[in-house]
Amino acid sequence: MRGRKTAAMFSFRAALVLCLAVALGSPGQVQAAPAKNVIVLIVDGCSAEQYAFARWYKGAPLSFDPYRVGAVKTFISDSVIADSAPAASAFATGVRTSDKHISVGPHKKTISGVPAPADDVQYRPFATVLEGARLLGKATGIVATSRVSHATPGAYLAHTASRSSEDDIMEQAVHQGVDVVLGGGRRHLLPRESKGGARADGENLYQTLQSWGYAVVENRQDMLKVSGGRVFGMFADDHMDPEIDRPALHPDQPTLAEMTRKAIELLARDRDGFFLMVEGSQVDWACHANDVPHMLSDLLAYDQAVEAALEFAKKDGRTMVIAVSDHNTGGFSIGNHNSNKIYSQMTVENLLDPFRRMKTSGYQLWKSLAEKTPDTLKAALREDWVMDITDAEAQKIIALAASYKNNAYNALGEVLCPIYTHVGWTTHGHCGGDVPLHAFGPGKPAGGVVDAPDIARVCASAMGFDLQKLNRRLFVDAAQAFPGRVAVDRSQPANPVVKIATAAGLTAELPANKNFLKLGEKVYPLEGVVVYAKDTERAYIPQQAVNLIQGTRGLPRITP
Ligand SMILES: [Zn+2]
Repeated sequence: MRGRKTAAMFSFRAALVLCLAVALGSPGQVQAAPAKNVIVLIVDGCSAEQYAFARWYKGAPLSFDPYRVGAVKTFISDSVIADSAPAASAFATGVRTSDKHISVGPHKKTISGVPAPADDVQYRPFATVLEGARLLGKATGIVATSRVSHATPGAYLAHTASRSSEDDIMEQAVHQGVDVVLGGGRRHLLPRESKGGARADGENLYQTLQSWGYAVVENRQDMLKVSGGRVFGMFADDHMDPEIDRPALHPDQPTLAEMTRKAIELLARDRDGFFLMVEGSQVDWACHANDVPHMLSDLLAYDQAVEAALEFAKKDGRTMVIAVSDHNTGGFSIGNHNSNKIYSQMTVENLLDPFRRMKTSGYQLWKSLAEKTPDTLKAALREDWVMDITDAEAQKIIALAASYKNNAYNALGEVLCPIYTHVGWTTHGHCGGDVPLHAFGPGKPAGGVVDAPDIARVCASAMGFDLQKLNRRLFVDAAQAFPGRVAVDRSQPANPVVKIATAAGLTAELPANKNFLKLGEKVYPLEGVVVYAKDTERAYIPQQAVNLIQGTRGLPRITP
């Protein structure tokens, strides 16, 4: 989907897509591609127990309940417990990688049972199913309630060894040419000097997007008005609000389901089909904090987003939908030490009543306390959660909160759930168990217990391309293609530039995290982003750039 189209462009494009199809898979495979569209919906940090709890609360089946086909093993290459970055990387690339890695290969240290990676695999970028879809001419989209540069969306948009390199992730996200991006994280589009800006490299990617013809929108009304073309919706400088707090704090932020419906509406105009990833980002944080109202509201918001995707897929008939989580968080349980000997008293009302009364997330309740004293806390709990706690309990929460520093609100659920509710938590971190897998439509996984990287392979084969071929096409080790002729200019540390001496005596410049090549005064757009792996000091460039530098293939040039 690239804005204005003419009949002539369509026929040119059809030919181009056929060529790409030949390059990415065999033409036969592409003809036989079972799905035209793929929608992957990830609820971060969630598992079967939270689903069951949300179902009781909703009083009806969850939208994805009928489509549970199996489970996913979530371990990563260096831990039995997944971090969101490698977990989403496995879903995006089909490669099991290390803690904190965003769609690059693992480092050498692995857990037993996971073979150590070869040298040329470590830290190497691996192509994502979003990049594969785009090369097939499909429209692409990303929706999240976190910053879109956060771990899960980041793994579909970028390649970096550290999930905290969010400036780099956002820069690659912009240069990926994704058609629809909706979520939070505006600060990573703007330079530090600007209001709300975070970028250390001084770039204004907000302006870049506008100059490329993107509609950049910042509220629900403007998002709903977008009727075509490419759109970047940035609804918060940081993350979007917890769903339970959103109507009071920022009613102009869209819901996850509204963003999902708009993304599908825009992407479905592409006659080649589309790939869309939607993340219900905040169930994970809610579970980290043992914050039930936050968890419940965001999980039900995700349920509605999946419903929107399934509604489209059922009508369309050529759309595969996968609904899955990346790992569990918090060790949530229906039942705790308070309830495990009185099953007959565990009615639906006893389970749900404390939560039905809660009007805010624990996160927001804590944040809204100007002074954190036992008295202010007791008053806020009485008002927001309709819960009367004792002085001793209030003091215990305040003391525990101090030990959690930045995550002080962790103390609320940890202290109060065992006393006033019948739900339990075992940790403020992630858990290593399997997570349920839901799938619908043509090309869906057969089921059973599958490996996390299988999710990417299922998506690629549903759309009819081969991830291995895609890797060779998008990420060539520049030093292998041009031995002795590659240098990385790091004089501006936030803006490394890969420089390659050409046979004609010129220097080709490829700025890292961007999608173009400069040769003399000419600028050539590239079909993928340039990735510089700091840890191995290797640079990866599209095969297209190699061809251009070797002069084996000309391309239309654009002026800078
Ligand atoms: Zn996660």
